[in-house]
Amino acid sequence: MKVGVLALQGAFIEHAKNIRLLGAEAVEVRRPQQLVDLDALIIPGGESTTIGKIATTYGLIEPLRAFAREKPTWGTCAGMIFLAKDIGFDRQPVLGLMDIRVNRNAFGRQVDSFETDLHIKPLGDVPFHAVFIRAPVVTEVHANVEVLAALEDGRIVAVEQDNLLATAFHPELTPDLRLHEYFLLKTDRRGGGR
Ligand code: GLN
Repeated sequence: MKVGVLALQGAFIEHAKNIRLLGAEAVEVRRPQQLVDLDALIIPGGESTTIGKIATTYGLIEPLRAFAREKPTWGTCAGMIFLAKDIGFDRQPVLGLMDIRVNRNAFGRQVDSFETDLHIKPLGDVPFHAVFIRAPVVTEVHANVEVLAALEDGRIVAVEQDNLLATAFHPELTPDLRLHEYFLLKTDRRGGGR
């Protein structure tokens, strides 16, 4: 299985490392041609405005959109923002594919970074230690979107819609590989594995 990690800015090295630890191939993606033979793609956390700008400069927006319409694609933090249809304004380029509304930097300045144990539906009873760094939250989901995890106060932080997965936190910054494993299983189920 060959998984691309969008490597324009942000935490792409850690995602690639986790994918390799699970025995799959990871490729850093910077050019449209590199998408051609991938089974799945991860869009990392970082700064969504910067990722959008660089993606526009490299001619990646349309190729990424075409890829993520069909193949398993996982956005974490800035990557979640990049996948969302509604980010509250239209001044920054995003792929706009997932039927969610997100609120960027939802946790304000005082607590813009924090860690918490989360229950994530497909991972069962063992909580996942989640690191939030200037994270977004999902403020609206349409009927076709499944909520996978929410904070104790009900704010939604992980969602899935068909081939798309989005998490507001940074699963690549903790040693727990279960979400990466879940994404690889999802890719395999959707016929991505060769
Ligand atoms: N605050 C960033 C943004 O709006 C996301 C932060 C992150 O990816 N850790 O894009």
